[in-house]
Amino acid sequence: TRDAVLHRQNARESAARTYARSFPIVPVRADGMTVEGADGRRYLDCLSGAGTLALGHNHPVVLDAVRRTLDSGAPLHVLDLATREKDDFTDALFASLPPAFADHAKVHFCGPAGTDAVEAALKLTQTATGRRGVLAFTGAYHGMTAGALAATGSVAVKQPLPSAGEVTRLPYPYAYRCPFGVGGDRGAELSAAYVERLLDDPSGGVLPPAAMILEAVQGEGGVIPAPDAWLRAMRRITAERGIPLIVDEVQTGAGRTGTMWAVEHSGIVPDVIVASKAIGGSLPLAVVLYHEDYDGWRPGAHTGTFRGNTLAMAAGAATLRHVADAGLAARAALVGARMTARLDALRGALPVIGDVRGRGLMIGVELVDPAAAPDAGGAHPADPALAARVREGCLARGLIVELGGRHDAVLRLLPPLTITDEQAETVLDRVTDAIAEAAA
Ligand code: PMP
Repeated sequence: TRDAVLHRQNARESAARTYARSFPIVPVRADGMTVEGADGRRYLDCLSGAGTLALGHNHPVVLDAVRRTLDSGAPLHVLDLATREKDDFTDALFASLPPAFADHAKVHFCGPAGTDAVEAALKLTQTATGRRGVLAFTGAYHGMTAGALAATGSVAVKQPLPSAGEVTRLPYPYAYRCPFGVGGDRGAELSAAYVERLLDDPSGGVLPPAAMILEAVQGEGGVIPAPDAWLRAMRRITAERGIPLIVDEVQTGAGRTGTMWAVEHSGIVPDVIVASKAIGGSLPLAVVLYHEDYDGWRPGAHTGTFRGNTLAMAAGAATLRHVADAGLAARAALVGARMTARLDALRGALPVIGDVRGRGLMIGVELVDPAAAPDAGGAHPADPALAARVREGCLARGLIVELGGRHDAVLRLLPPLTITDEQAETVLDRVTDAIAEAAA
Protein backbone atom coordinates (compact mmCIF):
# COMPACT_ATOMS: atom_id res chain seq x y z
CA THR A 1 0.00 0.00 0.00
CA ARG A 2 2.94 2.36 0.59
CA ASP A 3 3.80 2.54 -3.09
CA ALA A 4 0.16 2.89 -4.16
CA VAL A 5 -0.43 5.80 -1.76
CA LEU A 6 2.82 7.50 -2.78
CA HIS A 7 1.99 7.03 -6.43
CA ARG A 8 -1.51 8.51 -6.11
CA GLN A 9 -0.31 11.46 -4.04
CA ASN A 10 2.58 12.17 -6.40
CA ALA A 11 0.08 12.22 -9.26
CA ARG A 12 -2.49 14.46 -7.58
CA GLU A 13 -0.66 16.74 -5.16
CA SER A 14 1.09 19.98 -6.02
CA ALA A 15 4.69 20.10 -7.14
CA ALA A 16 5.34 22.36 -4.13
CA ARG A 17 5.28 19.44 -1.66
CA THR A 18 8.39 19.65 0.47
CA TYR A 19 8.89 17.00 3.13
CA ALA A 20 7.17 14.36 1.02
CA ARG A 21 9.99 14.66 -1.50
CA SER A 22 12.70 13.90 1.03
CA PHE A 23 10.84 11.25 3.00
CA PRO A 24 8.99 8.62 0.97
CA ILE A 25 7.19 7.42 4.08
CA VAL A 26 3.47 6.76 4.51
CA PRO A 27 3.12 7.03 8.28
CA VAL A 28 0.44 4.77 9.67
CA ARG A 29 1.24 4.77 13.38
CA ALA A 30 3.34 6.88 15.67
CA ASP A 31 4.21 6.80 19.32
CA GLY A 32 6.65 9.09 21.10
CA MET A 33 9.71 9.41 18.92
CA THR A 34 8.83 6.46 16.71
CA VAL A 35 6.98 6.58 13.40
CA GLU A 36 5.93 3.42 11.61
CA GLY A 37 5.45 3.44 7.84
CA ALA A 38 2.92 1.47 5.77
CA ASP A 39 5.76 -0.84 4.74
CA GLY A 40 6.29 -1.79 8.38
CA ARG A 41 9.57 0.15 8.73
CA ARG A 42 10.12 2.08 11.93
CA TYR A 43 11.90 5.44 12.16
CA LEU A 44 13.15 7.67 14.95
CA ASP A 45 11.70 11.11 14.27
CA CYS A 46 14.17 13.98 14.68
CA LEU A 47 11.95 16.36 12.71
CA SER A 48 8.95 16.28 15.07
CA GLY A 49 6.59 17.99 12.65
CA ALA A 50 9.15 20.77 12.06
CA GLY A 51 9.64 21.28 15.78
CA THR A 52 5.97 20.98 16.68
CA LEU A 53 5.87 17.83 18.79
CA ALA A 54 7.32 18.79 22.16
CA LEU A 55 5.97 15.56 23.67
CA GLY A 56 6.51 13.44 20.58
CA HIS A 57 3.72 11.71 18.72
CA ASN A 58 0.45 10.81 20.44
CA HIS A 59 1.59 11.42 23.99
CA PRO A 60 -0.92 9.98 26.51
CA VAL A 61 -1.54 13.38 28.17
CA VAL A 62 -2.44 14.84 24.78
CA LEU A 63 -4.61 11.89 23.77
CA ASP A 64 -6.40 11.95 27.14
CA ALA A 65 -7.08 15.68 26.90
CA VAL A 66 -8.45 15.31 23.37
CA ARG A 67 -10.59 12.27 24.31
CA ARG A 68 -11.97 14.01 27.39
CA THR A 69 -12.91 17.04 25.32
CA LEU A 70 -14.53 14.90 22.63
CA ASP A 71 -16.53 13.00 25.24
CA SER A 72 -17.60 16.18 27.04
CA GLY A 73 -19.87 17.31 24.23
CA ALA A 74 -18.07 20.66 23.95
CA PRO A 75 -18.49 22.25 20.50
CA LEU A 76 -15.40 21.68 18.38
CA HIS A 77 -15.74 24.87 16.35
CA VAL A 78 -16.84 28.14 17.92
CA LEU A 79 -15.05 30.95 16.01
CA ASP A 80 -13.52 33.06 18.78
CA LEU A 81 -16.24 32.68 21.42
CA ALA A 82 -15.25 32.28 25.06
CA THR A 83 -14.96 28.62 26.01
CA ARG A 84 -13.81 26.74 29.08
CA GLU A 85 -11.11 25.10 26.96
CA LYS A 86 -9.78 28.49 25.82
CA ASP A 87 -9.86 29.78 29.39
CA ASP A 88 -7.87 26.77 30.55
CA PHE A 89 -5.39 27.05 27.70
CA THR A 90 -4.88 30.76 28.42
CA ASP A 91 -4.15 29.91 32.09
CA ALA A 92 -1.53 27.35 31.05
CA LEU A 93 -0.03 29.72 28.48
CA PHE A 94 0.26 32.69 30.85
CA ALA A 95 1.69 30.46 33.59
CA SER A 96 4.40 29.36 31.16
CA LEU A 97 5.52 32.91 30.29
CA PRO A 98 8.26 34.87 32.06
CA PRO A 99 6.38 36.84 34.76
CA ALA A 100 7.88 40.18 33.67
CA PHE A 101 6.17 39.64 30.30
CA ALA A 102 3.02 37.83 31.49
CA ASP A 103 2.14 40.50 34.06
CA HIS A 104 1.36 43.00 31.28
CA ALA A 105 0.45 40.62 28.45
CA LYS A 106 -2.63 40.30 26.31
CA VAL A 107 -3.21 37.37 23.99
CA HIS A 108 -4.84 37.35 20.57
CA PHE A 109 -5.79 34.02 19.00
CA CYS A 110 -4.91 33.82 15.32
CA GLY A 111 -5.89 31.78 12.29
CA PRO A 112 -4.03 28.74 13.38
CA ALA A 113 -0.69 28.93 11.51
CA GLY A 114 2.46 30.62 12.77
CA THR A 115 2.51 32.86 9.73
CA ASP A 116 -0.87 34.39 10.62
CA ALA A 117 0.36 35.22 14.12
CA VAL A 118 3.38 36.93 12.54
CA GLU A 119 0.99 38.98 10.36
CA ALA A 120 -0.94 39.90 13.48
CA ALA A 121 2.25 41.01 15.24
CA LEU A 122 3.27 43.19 12.29
CA LYS A 123 -0.19 44.73 11.96
CA LEU A 124 -0.46 45.28 15.69
CA THR A 125 2.82 47.20 15.88
CA GLN A 126 1.99 49.13 12.70
CA THR A 127 -1.35 50.09 14.24
CA ALA A 128 0.22 51.08 17.55
CA THR A 129 3.06 53.14 16.08
CA GLY A 130 1.36 54.50 12.96
CA ARG A 131 4.53 53.50 11.10
CA ARG A 132 5.01 50.95 8.31
CA GLY A 133 8.57 49.69 8.07
CA VAL A 134 9.91 46.50 9.62
CA LEU A 135 13.46 45.63 10.66
CA ALA A 136 14.22 41.96 10.00
CA PHE A 137 17.34 39.82 9.77
CA THR A 138 19.33 37.90 7.20
CA GLY A 139 18.37 34.22 7.16
CA ALA A 140 15.13 34.81 9.08
CA TYR A 141 12.06 32.62 8.56
CA HIS A 142 8.69 33.99 9.61
CA GLY A 143 6.17 32.31 7.29
CA MET A 144 4.55 32.28 3.88
CA THR A 145 1.88 34.98 3.95
CA ALA A 146 2.77 38.33 2.39
CA GLY A 147 3.94 40.28 5.45
CA ALA A 148 5.70 37.35 7.10
CA LEU A 149 7.27 36.43 3.78
CA ALA A 150 8.59 39.96 3.33
CA ALA A 151 10.29 39.66 6.74
CA THR A 152 11.72 36.25 5.80
CA GLY A 153 15.35 36.47 4.75
CA SER A 154 15.86 33.44 2.57
CA VAL A 155 15.85 34.63 -1.01
CA ALA A 156 15.64 31.04 -2.25
CA VAL A 157 12.31 30.66 -0.48
CA LYS A 158 10.97 34.05 -1.49
CA GLN A 159 12.02 34.30 -5.09
CA PRO A 160 9.08 32.70 -6.85
CA LEU A 161 6.53 34.21 -4.48
CA PRO A 162 4.89 37.59 -4.07
CA SER A 163 5.73 39.52 -0.93
CA ALA A 164 4.82 42.87 0.51
CA GLY A 165 6.11 45.29 3.08
CA GLU A 166 8.91 47.76 3.63
CA VAL A 167 11.60 45.65 5.19
CA THR A 168 15.11 46.71 6.13
CA ARG A 169 17.33 43.66 6.30
CA LEU A 170 19.93 43.62 9.06
CA PRO A 171 22.87 41.21 9.65
CA TYR A 172 21.97 38.35 12.01
CA PRO A 173 24.89 37.32 14.25
CA TYR A 174 25.76 34.10 12.42
CA ALA A 175 29.09 33.45 14.13
CA TYR A 176 30.24 30.69 11.76
CA ARG A 177 29.65 32.72 8.60
CA CYS A 178 29.88 36.17 10.09
CA PRO A 179 28.60 38.92 7.76
CA PHE A 180 31.58 41.00 8.93
CA GLY A 181 34.09 38.22 8.34
CA VAL A 182 35.32 37.96 11.92
CA GLY A 183 32.96 35.50 13.63
CA GLY A 184 32.39 34.72 17.28
CA ASP A 185 31.23 37.27 19.81
CA ARG A 186 33.11 40.04 18.01
CA GLY A 187 30.90 39.50 14.95
CA ALA A 188 27.80 39.91 17.11
CA GLU A 189 29.20 43.13 18.57
CA LEU A 190 29.76 44.49 15.07
CA SER A 191 26.23 43.49 14.05
CA ALA A 192 24.76 45.36 17.04
CA ALA A 193 26.91 48.42 16.34
CA TYR A 194 25.85 48.35 12.68
CA VAL A 195 22.15 48.24 13.58
CA GLU A 196 22.52 51.11 16.00
CA ARG A 197 24.47 53.32 13.59
CA LEU A 198 22.10 52.59 10.72
CA LEU A 199 19.08 53.66 12.75
CA ASP A 200 20.79 56.87 13.79
CA ASP A 201 22.16 57.74 10.34
CA PRO A 202 19.88 60.35 8.79
CA SER A 203 21.15 59.45 5.33
CA GLY A 204 20.85 55.68 5.93
CA GLY A 205 17.48 55.49 4.22
CA VAL A 206 15.64 53.85 7.11
CA LEU A 207 12.45 55.57 8.22
CA PRO A 208 11.45 55.04 11.85
CA PRO A 209 10.12 51.47 11.73
CA ALA A 210 6.97 49.95 13.22
CA ALA A 211 8.88 47.00 14.69
CA MET A 212 11.96 44.84 14.79
CA ILE A 213 11.26 41.11 14.39
CA LEU A 214 13.78 38.39 15.22
CA GLU A 215 14.22 34.75 16.21
CA ALA A 216 16.36 34.19 19.34
CA VAL A 217 17.55 31.00 17.63
CA GLN A 218 17.03 30.95 13.87
CA GLY A 219 15.47 27.63 12.92
CA GLU A 220 14.90 27.30 9.18
CA GLY A 221 17.85 29.68 8.67
CA GLY A 222 20.19 26.95 9.92
CA VAL A 223 19.81 26.60 13.72
CA ILE A 224 21.73 29.73 14.67
CA PRO A 225 21.52 30.89 18.27
CA ALA A 226 21.97 34.63 18.75
CA PRO A 227 24.34 35.46 21.63
CA ASP A 228 22.55 36.69 24.76
CA ALA A 229 24.57 39.92 24.71
CA TRP A 230 23.40 40.60 21.15
CA LEU A 231 19.77 40.01 22.10
CA ARG A 232 20.17 42.38 25.04
CA ALA A 233 21.70 44.93 22.66
CA MET A 234 18.70 44.62 20.31
CA ARG A 235 16.37 45.12 23.27
CA ARG A 236 18.28 48.21 24.39
CA ILE A 237 18.52 49.70 20.87
CA THR A 238 14.80 49.23 20.17
CA ALA A 239 13.70 50.43 23.62
CA GLU A 240 15.82 53.59 23.37
CA ARG A 241 14.22 54.44 20.03
CA GLY A 242 10.63 53.46 20.83
CA ILE A 243 10.64 50.53 18.39
CA PRO A 244 8.51 47.55 19.47
CA LEU A 245 10.53 44.30 19.58
CA ILE A 246 8.77 41.19 18.27
CA VAL A 247 10.36 37.85 19.13
CA ASP A 248 9.17 35.00 16.90
CA GLU A 249 9.06 31.97 19.22
CA VAL A 250 7.09 29.81 16.79
CA GLN A 251 9.86 27.20 16.68
CA THR A 252 11.78 27.97 19.89
CA GLY A 253 8.83 28.07 22.30
CA ALA A 254 7.46 25.53 24.77
CA GLY A 255 10.74 24.23 26.15
CA ARG A 256 12.69 23.38 23.01
CA THR A 257 15.76 25.55 23.68
CA GLY A 258 16.16 24.46 27.30
CA THR A 259 13.98 27.15 28.83
CA MET A 260 10.23 27.42 28.40
CA TRP A 261 10.72 30.44 26.10
CA ALA A 262 13.97 31.26 24.32
CA VAL A 263 13.89 34.88 25.55
CA GLU A 264 14.56 33.55 29.07
CA HIS A 265 18.22 32.77 28.26
CA SER A 266 19.04 36.45 27.74
CA GLY A 267 16.37 37.73 30.12
CA ILE A 268 15.05 40.22 27.56
CA VAL A 269 11.39 41.21 27.81
CA PRO A 270 10.04 41.74 24.29
CA ASP A 271 6.98 43.82 23.49
CA VAL A 272 5.47 41.02 21.40
CA ILE A 273 5.92 37.24 21.33
CA VAL A 274 4.61 35.10 18.48
CA ALA A 275 3.90 31.45 19.31
CA SER A 276 2.54 28.44 17.44
CA LYS A 277 3.73 24.88 16.65
CA ALA A 278 4.28 23.12 20.02
CA ILE A 279 1.71 25.19 21.95
CA GLY A 280 -1.09 23.34 20.11
CA GLY A 281 0.09 19.91 21.25
CA SER A 282 0.09 18.64 17.59
CA LEU A 283 -3.11 20.48 16.64
CA PRO A 284 -3.18 23.85 14.84
CA LEU A 285 -2.96 26.83 17.17
CA ALA A 286 -1.21 30.20 16.95
CA VAL A 287 -1.21 33.27 19.15
CA VAL A 288 0.32 36.69 19.37
CA LEU A 289 1.09 37.91 22.88
CA TYR A 290 1.80 41.58 23.48
CA HIS A 291 2.15 44.31 26.04
CA GLU A 292 -1.24 45.68 27.07
CA ASP A 293 -0.17 49.18 25.97
CA TYR A 294 -0.42 48.01 22.36
CA ASP A 295 -4.02 46.85 22.72
CA GLY A 296 -5.47 49.59 20.58
CA TRP A 297 -7.02 47.28 18.03
CA ARG A 298 -10.59 47.71 16.89
CA PRO A 299 -12.84 44.62 17.01
CA GLY A 300 -12.29 42.72 13.78
CA ALA A 301 -8.82 44.18 13.20
CA HIS A 302 -7.38 40.69 12.87
CA THR A 303 -10.00 38.01 12.36
CA GLY A 304 -9.97 34.43 11.11
CA THR A 305 -12.48 31.60 11.08
CA PHE A 306 -10.42 29.00 12.90
CA ARG A 307 -9.34 30.93 15.96
CA GLY A 308 -11.08 28.85 18.59
CA ASN A 309 -10.22 25.24 17.87
CA THR A 310 -11.45 23.51 21.01
CA LEU A 311 -9.38 20.37 20.59
CA ALA A 312 -6.21 22.39 19.98
CA MET A 313 -6.85 24.38 23.18
CA ALA A 314 -7.21 21.14 25.14
CA ALA A 315 -4.17 19.47 23.56
CA GLY A 316 -2.13 22.65 23.93
CA ALA A 317 -3.00 23.21 27.60
CA ALA A 318 -2.12 19.59 28.40
CA THR A 319 1.18 19.93 26.54
CA LEU A 320 2.25 23.20 28.19
CA ARG A 321 1.40 21.82 31.65
CA HIS A 322 3.25 18.58 31.02
CA VAL A 323 6.36 20.36 29.74
CA ALA A 324 6.35 22.42 32.96
CA ASP A 325 5.40 19.65 35.42
CA ALA A 326 7.83 17.09 34.00
CA GLY A 327 10.68 19.64 33.82
CA LEU A 328 11.11 18.98 30.11
CA ALA A 329 12.80 22.30 29.34
CA ALA A 330 15.62 21.48 31.78
CA ARG A 331 15.75 17.98 30.34
CA ALA A 332 16.05 19.46 26.82
CA ALA A 333 18.96 21.59 28.04
CA LEU A 334 20.73 18.57 29.53
CA VAL A 335 20.23 16.11 26.66
CA GLY A 336 20.82 18.84 24.08
CA ALA A 337 24.15 19.81 25.66
CA ARG A 338 25.26 16.17 25.70
CA MET A 339 24.24 15.58 22.08
CA THR A 340 25.89 18.81 20.94
CA ALA A 341 29.11 17.95 22.77
CA ARG A 342 29.25 14.48 21.22
CA LEU A 343 28.67 15.88 17.74
CA ASP A 344 31.26 18.59 18.30
CA ALA A 345 33.80 15.95 19.33
CA LEU A 346 33.39 14.32 15.90
CA ARG A 347 34.76 17.34 14.07
CA GLY A 348 38.38 16.16 14.27
CA ALA A 349 37.63 12.78 12.73
CA LEU A 350 35.04 14.09 10.27
CA PRO A 351 36.24 17.44 8.86
CA VAL A 352 33.06 17.72 6.77
CA ILE A 353 31.44 18.85 10.03
CA GLY A 354 32.13 22.57 9.81
CA ASP A 355 30.12 23.72 12.78
CA VAL A 356 27.94 22.24 15.54
CA ARG A 357 25.64 24.63 17.35
CA GLY A 358 22.28 25.03 18.97
CA ARG A 359 20.41 25.47 22.16
CA GLY A 360 18.64 22.67 24.02
CA LEU A 361 17.06 20.27 21.56
CA MET A 362 17.40 22.58 18.59
CA ILE A 363 20.71 21.36 17.19
CA GLY A 364 22.39 22.13 13.87
CA VAL A 365 25.32 20.46 12.15
CA GLU A 366 26.67 22.50 9.24
CA LEU A 367 28.25 20.30 6.58
CA VAL A 368 31.07 21.74 4.49
CA ASP A 369 33.60 20.87 1.84
CA PRO A 370 36.88 20.84 3.80
CA ALA A 371 38.92 20.58 0.56
CA ALA A 372 37.66 23.98 -0.66
CA ALA A 373 39.29 27.21 0.49
CA PRO A 374 37.81 28.74 3.66
CA ASP A 375 36.38 32.27 3.83
CA ALA A 376 37.93 35.15 5.80
CA GLY A 377 36.37 33.81 9.02
CA GLY A 378 37.77 30.30 8.47
CA ALA A 379 34.52 28.63 7.34
CA HIS A 380 34.71 26.25 4.39
CA PRO A 381 31.94 26.44 1.74
CA ALA A 382 28.70 24.66 2.60
CA ASP A 383 28.19 21.29 0.90
CA PRO A 384 24.49 20.81 0.11
CA ALA A 385 25.08 17.68 -1.99
CA LEU A 386 26.88 16.00 0.90
CA ALA A 387 24.12 17.14 3.27
CA ALA A 388 21.47 15.56 1.02
CA ARG A 389 23.43 12.28 1.07
CA VAL A 390 23.62 12.44 4.86
CA ARG A 391 19.87 12.92 5.11
CA GLU A 392 19.35 9.90 2.83
CA GLY A 393 21.86 7.88 4.84
CA CYS A 394 19.99 8.76 8.02
CA LEU A 395 16.69 7.69 6.47
CA ALA A 396 18.22 4.39 5.34
CA ARG A 397 19.26 3.86 8.98
CA GLY A 398 15.75 4.60 10.25
CA LEU A 399 16.20 8.24 11.22
CA ILE A 400 14.14 11.20 10.00
CA VAL A 401 16.27 14.38 9.89
CA GLU A 402 15.64 17.53 7.87
CA LEU A 403 18.05 20.02 6.36
CA GLY A 404 17.95 23.81 6.60
CA GLY A 405 20.14 26.85 6.46
CA ARG A 406 21.27 29.26 3.78
CA HIS A 407 22.57 26.49 1.53
CA ASP A 408 20.43 23.59 2.73
CA ALA A 409 23.59 22.14 4.25
CA VAL A 410 22.65 22.21 7.93
CA LEU A 411 21.39 18.99 9.48
CA ARG A 412 18.67 20.04 11.92
CA LEU A 413 17.99 17.82 14.91
CA LEU A 414 14.64 18.62 16.54
CA PRO A 415 13.75 15.53 18.57
CA PRO A 416 10.82 15.54 20.98
CA LEU A 417 11.72 16.87 24.45
CA THR A 418 10.78 13.43 25.76
CA ILE A 419 13.71 11.75 23.98
CA THR A 420 15.34 9.12 26.22
CA ASP A 421 19.10 8.85 26.80
CA GLU A 422 19.09 5.64 24.81
CA GLN A 423 17.25 7.22 21.88
CA ALA A 424 19.68 10.15 21.93
CA GLU A 425 22.60 7.73 21.64
CA THR A 426 20.90 5.87 18.79
CA VAL A 427 20.26 9.14 16.95
CA LEU A 428 23.93 10.12 17.31
CA ASP A 429 25.16 6.68 16.21
CA ARG A 430 23.03 6.87 13.07
CA VAL A 431 23.99 10.48 12.29
CA THR A 432 27.69 9.66 12.78
CA ASP A 433 27.51 6.63 10.49
CA ALA A 434 25.56 8.56 7.85
CA ILE A 435 28.06 11.43 7.85
CA ALA A 436 31.05 9.08 7.73
CA GLU A 437 29.49 7.16 4.83
CA ALA A 438 28.56 10.30 2.88
CA ALA A 439 32.03 11.81 3.38
CA ALA A 440 33.93 8.64 2.37
N1 PMP B 1 8.20 31.51 12.38
C1 PMP B 1 9.14 30.57 12.58
C2 PMP B 1 10.32 30.89 13.43
C3 PMP B 1 8.99 29.30 12.01
O1 PMP B 1 9.94 28.37 12.20
C4 PMP B 1 7.84 29.03 11.23
C5 PMP B 1 7.62 27.67 10.60
N2 PMP B 1 8.71 26.91 10.33
C6 PMP B 1 6.90 30.05 11.05
C7 PMP B 1 7.11 31.27 11.64
C8 PMP B 1 5.67 29.85 10.22
O2 PMP B 1 4.78 28.97 10.84
P1 PMP B 1 3.67 28.22 9.97
O3 PMP B 1 4.40 27.27 9.06
O4 PMP B 1 2.81 27.51 10.96
O5 PMP B 1 2.93 29.27 9.24
